[in-house]
Amino acid sequence: MKGTVLYGPRDIRFEERDDPKIIKPTDAIIRISATCVCGSDLWPYRGLQPVSEPTPMGHEYCGIVEEVGSAVRSVKPGQFVIGSFATSDNTCPHCQAVYQSSCLDREWMLRAQASVLRVPHADGTLVATPAVPSKDMIPSLLTLSDVMGTGWFAAVAADVKPGKTVAVVGDGAVGLLGVLSAKQMGAGRIIAMSRHEKRQKLAREFGATDIVTERGDEGVARIKELTKGIGADSVLECVGTQESMMQAIGSTRPGGSIGYVGVPHGVELDGQQLFFSHVRLHGGPAPVRRFLPDLIDLVWKEKINPGKVFDLTLPLDQVAEGYRAMDERRAIKTLLRP
Ligand SMILES: [Zn+2]
Repeated sequence: MKGTVLYGPRDIRFEERDDPKIIKPTDAIIRISATCVCGSDLWPYRGLQPVSEPTPMGHEYCGIVEEVGSAVRSVKPGQFVIGSFATSDNTCPHCQAVYQSSCLDREWMLRAQASVLRVPHADGTLVATPAVPSKDMIPSLLTLSDVMGTGWFAAVAADVKPGKTVAVVGDGAVGLLGVLSAKQMGAGRIIAMSRHEKRQKLAREFGATDIVTERGDEGVARIKELTKGIGADSVLECVGTQESMMQAIGSTRPGGSIGYVGVPHGVELDGQQLFFSHVRLHGGPAPVRRFLPDLIDLVWKEKINPGKVFDLTLPLDQVAEGYRAMDERRAIKTLLRP
């Protein structure tokens, strides 16, 4: 079997690896139908999160179950399944509190940019679709593994409610799907922050009512202007830089909430500034497993089409080009087909 390995900055290789096998009775082996490159893969790709050894890549996946361990009960061979980027037993106290991405027995998924994948804790991690989907539906189902689940969590964490004003910081795939999530939750006004024409268009298609192209303090000033000096009720922070976090805090009204899902890199918050801002902050790695059943239902009934964030589809063996296109912002998100 071949899979994707990062050797160092901008050095992605698609190379021969051992076939995954059942190791524990709770494992499943799935044949990947589609996988993709995540915005968070770009941090190590760019050398901003250095790798000390060749590192297998990929944590977004869906596919057909080939084999299950002797203890697996909820999925069986032949089913089409989607799982989170973090495994969960779905039984421990954190899982019961629906924070499955903090499962006491969590493993971060790696190695998904490959043709076959071992998934630990299959019962608690994977959710099967009602039937094997059509090829057209697979991109949308794939997004539920991370990017759509993460955008949805950003909106949940930011307490998006019907009729409220939402601002979204970040026009990557997560931010765009944060817009879609806010729309689905009934937000009255959705302000997307983007200076990229193609992304602005998709944001509007997903439900954005306003576009703000300014950044930093100017971006905050523009959000204030659009909200009569008050700020947004809910802000989704989908980047993870100091500038984006400060933009989110500055754009939120006192008493408002920020859902932050961009993995922070070099973000430092000033205690006093946070104190006087009067905002709620909630975020972290999205508990995707919590949302999988409902999101599968929304995609299955064609109520949402999050797969539109994929504007580049490549055969898996061209994965290196998939990374390059996203790194150079030529593509919003790359889908890879084995
Ligand atoms: Zn757990």
